[in-house]
Amino acid sequence: MEKPDGFARSGLRFECTRCSKCCRHTPGYVFLSAADVTTLARKHRLRSGDFLSLYCRPVDFGLTRRYSLKEKPNLDCIFWENGGCSVYEARPLQCRSFPFWSALVTSRAEWENQARICPGMGSGELHPWTEIKQWLERRLQEGFLEAEGEEQENESRFLGSARISSDPSDA
Ligand code: SF4
Ligand code: SF4
Repeated sequence: MEKPDGFARSGLRFECTRCSKCCRHTPGYVFLSAADVTTLARKHRLRSGDFLSLYCRPVDFGLTRRYSLKEKPNLDCIFWENGGCSVYEARPLQCRSFPFWSALVTSRAEWENQARICPGMGSGELHPWTEIKQWLERRLQEGFLEAEGEEQENESRFLGSARISSDPSDA
């Protein structure tokens, strides 16, 4: 694996085309930090616990459990509506920080592999390493909200799934 400041040191091009490939049609995870839950609950005028019950699912990884957004029966993200993200301004950090995830910016092969799915990667605005590093640091700082209690799904069958904004290994 290349160092984080390896191939990405000179910056990476990305501009979202809003094609929605990362929000629809495939199973996957959108993991939430405590700050994400607070922001999204406020947007829906709900208490955090009610927001978690209505819109989130606990995912069991064995040693840890995290909350991910629910999906619709057609595998669209619960918040994808009418051609786009219905919570765009309050979307989770995982979505907001894509594609500047540690797993992608530390490996040219991973970046190029993901770029075959996402048409925005490799084109458009050049994002400098200083900005990319800020996204990585923010992901590390916010972390993930750990799920508690007995009620949980085991979604391990979806690990490594194709939804772009749902890499469970990314921190
Ligand atoms: S797949 Fe890439 S270009 Fe398409 S909506 Fe997602 S981030 Fe944007
Ligand atoms: S919350 Fe994220 S995955 Fe869901 S529709 Fe919005 S941008 Fe897409």
